[in-house]
Amino acid sequence: MPIYAYRCSSCGHENDHMQKLADAPLTECPSCHADTYQKKITAAGFQLKGTGWYATDFKGGTSGSSAASSSESAPACPGGSCACH
Ligand SMILES: [Zn+2]
Repeated sequence: MPIYAYRCSSCGHENDHMQKLADAPLTECPSCHADTYQKKITAAGFQLKGTGWYATDFKGGTSGSSAASSSESAPACPGGSCACH
């Protein structure tokens, strides 16, 4: 069952609701009871994916690329194999 993230544009209340595709979307905010409660289309799936991507990307990106670039760029130039000195 898909989870939909809802947000009230009136009071800013946010919550996730598990709904069937056939279910009518919620409109009434459970917090302030205004009819400004709206589905955030991308939120739930995007958030989960976003955090996952961010975690792996951050971990692999920093340790991997910094180690590789420092060990690779340092010996390349002082070694005399390039024409910049
Ligand atoms: Zn509200």
